[in-house]
Amino acid sequence: MTPTWTDYCSNEGFAGPFENQILYAMCRDHPGHDSSYVAAGKVTAIGRIYAASPARGAGKPMTDTPLVRTIGEYLANSKLDEMLASIDFGSRFSPEILESVVSAHGYLVSEIVAATRSWSREAQDGNWRPRNHDSFASKYLHFHRPNAFPIMDKFARAGLKCVGQTGNVSTYAGFCDAFAQYAQTQGDDWTPRSLDTVLVARGRKHEARGEKNCEECKKPKGHRTRAGLAEIYAPAATTTGSDPV
Ligand SMILES: [Zn+2]
Repeated sequence: MTPTWTDYCSNEGFAGPFENQILYAMCRDHPGHDSSYVAAGKVTAIGRIYAASPARGAGKPMTDTPLVRTIGEYLANSKLDEMLASIDFGSRFSPEILESVVSAHGYLVSEIVAATRSWSREAQDGNWRPRNHDSFASKYLHFHRPNAFPIMDKFARAGLKCVGQTGNVSTYAGFCDAFAQYAQTQGDDWTPRSLDTVLVARGRKHEARGEKNCEECKKPKGHRTRAGLAEIYAPAATTTGSDPV
């Protein structure tokens, strides 16, 4: 049995910090995107509490309308609700629903980028590139379908590396693949949030400055370049995905 809305909205064990209960309740009570006003508020609340607002790096506006309201308008005219409806609340993240999860995520990112392009003065320059919204989109969707969407951020990614996952976790699809493999080693009593809590704690230690080697996985920290990471996390590494945590 996956947790219910009531579990996520009232039980610290499922929700984590109290502010999460507020965000879960917001999405339970206002699940849809037909109102740009409501959608803008949800984007603001999740973006600010999770320090991942799509407004960061969006440039300067061409209009008096706040960016979140423009995003809300795009979402109100989008297929997001249809895509969310295709994922049952009770479905836990698994390889079977991975495609729907990754598709909805990619779709939300593309809507945020399109909204930002229409809003931003900088975006009128053909060379402008939007910020990567993968992390925000994973958080936003997680609060709408907490059983289905894993949260991706730099600590969760580092945590997956720390527990021995060797795939490319820089995209949400790659992150979800690695998350699914890790989940298979964790018995049956987990939720995306319970695994996230473990992975973020591991990732914080893994990324902590000061120590030469990670105190958990013992891998050297060293140079954080792409090449350096590829070397450190090469598939030949001796760790497995089944570290006890
Ligand atoms: Zn580590």
